[in-house]
Amino acid sequence: MRYGMGAVIALLVVALAVCAGLSRKSKRSMAPSVAKLIGALVMPVTGNLIIILSSDRTLSVLGYFIYFLGMNLVMFTMLGFTFRYCHMPRPPRGMKALAYALLIADAAQLLCNPIFRHAFDIEAIQVAGAAYYRLIPYAGQTFHRIVCYGIFLAIVGIFFWKMITAPRLYLERYAVIFLSMVVVGIWETFYIFSRSPIDRSMIGFACFGLLVYYFAVHYKPVRLLDRMLANVASQMLQGVFFFDAGGRCVWVNRAGRETFHIDRDNYEPSAELLAGIFGDISGEEWVRHEAIMDGSVRKYYQLEKHSIQDSRGRTAGAFLSIVDETERHLAAEKDRYDATHDSLTGLYSREYLYERIRETIDANLDRAYMICFLDINDFKMVNDVFGREFGDYALKSVADSLRRDMGPDYLYGRLSGDAFGMCIPKESFNPEIAVATLSQFTVRRGETEYRLIIHQGVYEVVERDMDISGMFDRANMALESIKDEYNLHVAVYDSAMRERALWDQRIARELPEAIRTGQVRPYLQPIVDDRGRVVGAEALARWIHPAEGFLAPYRFIPTLEKNGMIAQVDRHIWRCACEILSGWKDNDLFISINVSPKDFYFMDVVKELTGLVREYAVEPSRLRLEITETVMMTDEAKRIEILKALREAGFIVEMDDFGSGYSSLNMLKDMPVDVVKIDMAFLRKTQDDVRARTILSSIMQMTNNLKLAQITEGVETAEQFANLRDMGCGMFQGYYFAKPMAVADFMKLLDGSRALA
Ligand code: C2E
Ligand code: MG
Ligand code: MG
Repeated sequence: MRYGMGAVIALLVVALAVCAGLSRKSKRSMAPSVAKLIGALVMPVTGNLIIILSSDRTLSVLGYFIYFLGMNLVMFTMLGFTFRYCHMPRPPRGMKALAYALLIADAAQLLCNPIFRHAFDIEAIQVAGAAYYRLIPYAGQTFHRIVCYGIFLAIVGIFFWKMITAPRLYLERYAVIFLSMVVVGIWETFYIFSRSPIDRSMIGFACFGLLVYYFAVHYKPVRLLDRMLANVASQMLQGVFFFDAGGRCVWVNRAGRETFHIDRDNYEPSAELLAGIFGDISGEEWVRHEAIMDGSVRKYYQLEKHSIQDSRGRTAGAFLSIVDETERHLAAEKDRYDATHDSLTGLYSREYLYERIRETIDANLDRAYMICFLDINDFKMVNDVFGREFGDYALKSVADSLRRDMGPDYLYGRLSGDAFGMCIPKESFNPEIAVATLSQFTVRRGETEYRLIIHQGVYEVVERDMDISGMFDRANMALESIKDEYNLHVAVYDSAMRERALWDQRIARELPEAIRTGQVRPYLQPIVDDRGRVVGAEALARWIHPAEGFLAPYRFIPTLEKNGMIAQVDRHIWRCACEILSGWKDNDLFISINVSPKDFYFMDVVKELTGLVREYAVEPSRLRLEITETVMMTDEAKRIEILKALREAGFIVEMDDFGSGYSSLNMLKDMPVDVVKIDMAFLRKTQDDVRARTILSSIMQMTNNLKLAQITEGVETAEQFANLRDMGCGMFQGYYFAKPMAVADFMKLLDGSRALA
């Protein structure tokens, strides 16, 4: 019996040593503390083995020492193991220190036993026919038991606490260790109180060590995993349905039950119910999307079915997951709508309109289409004057009217701020209706009422492969040609417009070089007095183009007026005029230069001109400035100041083209000028000579009364010259005297008689 027991314990020592070794090799995070605990267990169990087998007193004493000190070591390592196993990363500091202090004190007092004999002694008894040394405990031994029991009970307490507080899923993990500790504890207690000579409880401790090894290092918590997976499945937001091999539904998670109103006590009707909603759900592996009506709401689902195979590859069942995609679908739909529609007006955005037009044109090759570009004139002004809110309202009104008037196969959208685009089948396009709508577009909001001026450029889709943006560019080109017109609303693109646009681009590109090389230069047209003698000249720009030849101003000036580059031409012509004047030492002729209204945007006209006359030492009164009334259209007060400053600097300011504009008389009232330059061109078309003469003589009289000098330009006949002279006009310019000519020709003319009439 005694030796049989010894053999069992010896086996356990070997087993523990092996497990300690295996734990050291394991990569699990728990392994090091497990290795220490099991390694420590080897010591008391070995001690116990020695006690059981020894018949020698000294050997037995050694056995008891190894046993007791070993128990201290076991408690020490068990504390470390417990903290790790129970995930207590920061065990209470005081508690840990107290436990370690007690263990060390206990070990120390045990080691003093040979001196004081206070802890234990042994006495020989007969067991199984041989001497066996039984323990006689003293106070020190009682202390040792209290320390070890105290720590042991604390550890059991920790496991118990974890067992009841951790999620149920982890119960098994703590319960096994807890229960085995309880068994070992009771066993040990039994030994102590039974006074049985041989301590069998070490078997319990060794088994406990092996259990710890198994659970902490080796054990794969299959049940735990199963339960975790079931938990995950039941908490998933999608519906999950499990079917057995026969296709019967065996389990439905919570989302599935709630969405499809399935009774948790009876899953069987689920398959039929789902088939009723989604159609056939048989088959093994598939994914599909379904849209179904739930009452009045449309709902979107993704269904995914997979079969489940057992370890031998046989179908054990299947599962179906059903994801409610309604929200995602609606969000995607909204994103798509936002991306394709303008947020203010709800019309198609430009990109989407282009896309739709492309599709439509490509899909209807036998149909002709018109591309229309609509633009609100001066919309910035509407915003500035009436406020952004009214501006937005106006844009919405235009959008509403488009929606109202458009036919079913029209496409339309908002191209940019105040521009709208349309694509209309040619047979439905009616310019008269367009004009009628556009010409009286009034926006009313509360007290405010404003008539929008809307222009429409139209391009007939002839080149179907062209980019849609190119088509709109052409429609826009047509629109640009009437942008400044108040009575014209619709313009249709023709190829001349394209030529014009290309020409405009070319001029802009080539101008700087042309100025630098003198291709652009002034021609001089003589101005004569009432006796026909030359008193001055007007400098008129000409472009002697290397490829296009001689270009009159109408070929390039309007373009440059539009893009602002006219200022470069003017600066150049003014400089040329000053240069010519500075060369005229022996006469007192003047040169009139043209000042474009655009110049005022691009330079400080006063500074520029005073700088030039100073540079060339020219008397400012010899450089006359021709300015049209349009200069007063914007920023009138400031312009008046500029003209005053120019006159104060000594320049003579002339109002050019008087009578040809809309409000010459009105302007004359405010514009500070010295000379009025009357344009005869505006009388040229009239048949009624008497009326023309009446008007001219009235102008002469009026300007005389205002103490303004007059020049009449466009004089073509001797008769005109005579009549104007009779009316009191002092200076004349026109083909009757001479056409504009190169500077050299003009000099030759001066060398002659100087009298041109
Ligand atoms: P403008 O300043 O009114 O110049 C007078 C125009 O009338 C010139 O046309 C001249 O050739 C033309 N003309 C003179 N006498 C007669 C005549 O008896 N009969 C007819 N039918 N026409 C006559 P041009 O040179 O073609 O210039 C046209 C316009 O171009 C000018 O009108 C002026 O506004 C502008 N322009 C010309 N050169 C310049 C320039 O250097 N700078 C600026 N800003 N504009 C210029
Ligand atoms: Mg002029
Ligand atoms: Mg003129």
